[in-house]
Amino acid sequence: MRKINTRDFRLATRSTPHEVNRQIVLNLIREYQPISRAELARRMEVRRNMLTPLVRALVDAEIVYEEGTAPSVRGRRPTLLFLRTRGRLAVAADVRPGRSSVALADFAGRVVAREAVDTPASPVALVEALGASITRLLRNRALGAEPSEGCEGVGLVVPGMVDRRTGRVLYAPRLGWRDIDLRNRLSELVGLPVHIESAPIACALARLWLSGVESAAAHSFAYVSVSDGIGVGLVVKGEVLRGEAHTAGEFGHVTLNPAGPECVCGKRGCWESFACNAATVARYVEESGHGPRTPNGDGRLRRRRTPGMAIEEVVRRAKGGEPAAMVAIAETGRHIGRGLAAVVCAFNPGRIYVGGEVTAAWDLLEAPMRRALAEETLTDAARVTPIVPDRRPAEYRLLGAVALVAGPTFAAPRLG
Ligand SMILES: [Zn+2]
Repeated sequence: MRKINTRDFRLATRSTPHEVNRQIVLNLIREYQPISRAELARRMEVRRNMLTPLVRALVDAEIVYEEGTAPSVRGRRPTLLFLRTRGRLAVAADVRPGRSSVALADFAGRVVAREAVDTPASPVALVEALGASITRLLRNRALGAEPSEGCEGVGLVVPGMVDRRTGRVLYAPRLGWRDIDLRNRLSELVGLPVHIESAPIACALARLWLSGVESAAAHSFAYVSVSDGIGVGLVVKGEVLRGEAHTAGEFGHVTLNPAGPECVCGKRGCWESFACNAATVARYVEESGHGPRTPNGDGRLRRRRTPGMAIEEVVRRAKGGEPAAMVAIAETGRHIGRGLAAVVCAFNPGRIYVGGEVTAAWDLLEAPMRRALAEETLTDAARVTPIVPDRRPAEYRLLGAVALVAGPTFAAPRLG
């Protein structure tokens, strides 16, 4: 699934499908809405009459609608074209260790209903729990005779590597699951198509499909998801990089220090063992004197359970000025920056998005993160790679799930 670059595209000729031009029109409307036909024609460098059938097809398919007027110097007031996102619904499911979220959202990512479910230990029980939750949400919002009417599919985001072809979860370290099927079982249960993806890749797709006008740099970027674990979604020229065996972007399990804390994957000192939510909480507990102290230093920080403390609470205390929480978050920023340096060295993206609960304390995170990135990268350009926080820290993974359903509407058609 490739995104059309609206700053660099070639119009299809008579010998290539109408579908290509239609998708270019659709993507221009998506990025520049509200937009008049005249402006569209200008951006495509074509005559208005060539646009007419393309726009008509999109309006007839109810993907685009016309409304309102724009000021015009010559007195004639053109109607404007908008992308239809309201009323087009997707189920978004975010599977996480402990608690999972299920939401009903429109194609712009506006959540209209949501609930949380406990994540059971077994995949079969999880499918049942998700299925029951999805059915409840759809029934409460039923738009037609069937609860699923008006809903175009389920986006399922999981903390693990996914084989796109089979839809199987290859390995989810934090859940301890290997080679399991969630997609087909859930699809059978709810009677809707289910699109499954690893969390960071889904979040990268949300940046591609659900955001507005972006610079050209936004076509090659890394999305770093910092939550229970750390994962990276890599996008090169508008297309997600998956690797030959679906493990591209697993920077979270790159070793930063072999003498570091034990990781859920069985190794020591992986990036995520320093910077995931549990590591931040453990640092706060230690700093605040609520837990046993260990000598300061990465190699000695032991992973330990901190029941009852959520990352949101540490963020809240840090933003409220509590020194121990501020130190813990700043230290997480430093560790995130060290890993970002590895991402930049390996991949050199145009920009890096960072999503996760901890980004709600961006003011505390940013400076140590940038410092670590600058210290561990090799050129001036690499040192100043733009780092952008995701704007909705509490919902960024649900948006990723919505993008799995909404994105294919806008993708470039596969040719040849
Ligand atoms: Zn690991």
